[in-house]
Amino acid sequence: MKLAPAKSKPLIAILALSLLLTPVWSQLPTSSSNLPALGDGADMTLSAERKLGDRIARELYRDPDYLEDPILDEYLQNIWQPLVKGAQARGDMSPELQERFAWKILIGRDRSVNAFALPGGYLGIHLGLISVVTTRDELASVMAHELSHVTQRHISRSMGDQARMTPWLIGAMILGMLAASKSAQGAQAMIVGGQAMAAQSQLNFSRDMEREADRIGYGVMSEAGFDTQGFVNMFGKLQQASSLNDNGAFPYLRSHPLSSERMADMQSRQQLQTPRAANQEQDLVQAMMSARARVFSQPGVDALRAWAQEANDASVAKQSTAKQMGILYGACLSWMQLRDLAQAHALLPRLKLAAAQHAPSARLVQLLEAELAFKEDDMRSVLTSLRHVSAQANSLWQRPELLFITQASARLQVSSPTAETSQILAQGISALQRWVLQHAQDAQAWQVLATALAAQGRPLASLRAEGETQLARMDFGAAVDRFRAAQDASRRMNAAQADHIEASIVDARLRFAQGLLREQMLERQDR
Ligand SMILES: [Zn+2]
Repeated sequence: MKLAPAKSKPLIAILALSLLLTPVWSQLPTSSSNLPALGDGADMTLSAERKLGDRIARELYRDPDYLEDPILDEYLQNIWQPLVKGAQARGDMSPELQERFAWKILIGRDRSVNAFALPGGYLGIHLGLISVVTTRDELASVMAHELSHVTQRHISRSMGDQARMTPWLIGAMILGMLAASKSAQGAQAMIVGGQAMAAQSQLNFSRDMEREADRIGYGVMSEAGFDTQGFVNMFGKLQQASSLNDNGAFPYLRSHPLSSERMADMQSRQQLQTPRAANQEQDLVQAMMSARARVFSQPGVDALRAWAQEANDASVAKQSTAKQMGILYGACLSWMQLRDLAQAHALLPRLKLAAAQHAPSARLVQLLEAELAFKEDDMRSVLTSLRHVSAQANSLWQRPELLFITQASARLQVSSPTAETSQILAQGISALQRWVLQHAQDAQAWQVLATALAAQGRPLASLRAEGETQLARMDFGAAVDRFRAAQDASRRMNAAQADHIEASIVDARLRFAQGLLREQMLERQDR
């Protein structure tokens, strides 16, 4: 489910086109003094690399293909967080690096199999990658490899040679490459292709760096408790794709050519390990998440219809439990995408039965039921399907449940409140307020909080939360706008309504956002 529609500005296309208008890299002036210095062939500083990463992420957040999905976000976080901790435990990541970088995952709604480390600790993952893996260990191997490119500062090391380019141009170049790697070959991607290819050969990691990312990634994965067999299996998958010459669907292979040396190296490491038994519980969840990724990757109506019908195929019963779960879950979601909610509903009993013995899968089915109720615009059913969660203390609610429950109770508060739903809303708000204290960059949480506060009749706090949403997406202009609206609302309030603490927070946040906006404008003038 998509709680927050991304703004539909094809900024990547604009930036990609700007690549074409820029004649020759070498004729460009060197960066001026108030830009992070890249020059002298030296590595970028941590803060310069983070700034560059922020600049790229800011554009990606506005890309229509950027996906915010509480279920897939949580699933990836459950792999990513242990890997980050594993890298710390092994000493691959200094406390300074940990502190300065974003360590954030951005999901791209794209069918191609791709993952890429961006400057500043951002990791991009295409839905196509999630849809082709069969175990979470395989996905962890790709993420651990990309994480290691970041911790080993490969990006700054490969940019050391780009001294003549301003960070803005490097950012534009990377965005152009990403646009070109998308599977939907839009006109702009075609146009930019040649340029991006040239740019890519400048920015690609060296063979030594790839070897290092394999070696360290393997260690990080093992430290984090994943089965390193996933590394070998993923290599096997990529090798199969490359032998089929399926480069179009596997952009990851273009940036990560599989040499027999890389394969042999991983296989010899793996021979020293004791084989582990498959984890059925995890494989069920993976099958459901792969199906989810597939359905959300804009596959077109025909593919959705085919997946929806798959659940009725007599052969389903002969498949493994994991495959059956994936088929049923994918079919239900496909019907939802096709807006045939009755058909989606009809699959719920079979899904519940199949998941009954496996708590993590049963939970995902409950969340799916809540999503279906959202689509049916039936907020009471959303709350009913999650009542076993809302009956618990709100400190125990996990993020997807927290977002769903708060959103549904906020909608009811506006349309037909009861004492019970008002109480659930209050619990959701207090839990979300605690959450954003720990996760200030969680734009989606801020956005749901803004809606909930508005429903509760707290316009000032709601406008501030809207400002924080924009700050988290690094849209500083929109943030200034929201904080100003909050200031205006505060001035219009009479003495009885006034909230002086909230008003002074708004003043401080407005000044902060204005500072960031000024800095951004100066950078733009300098490009
Ligand atoms: Zn790599």
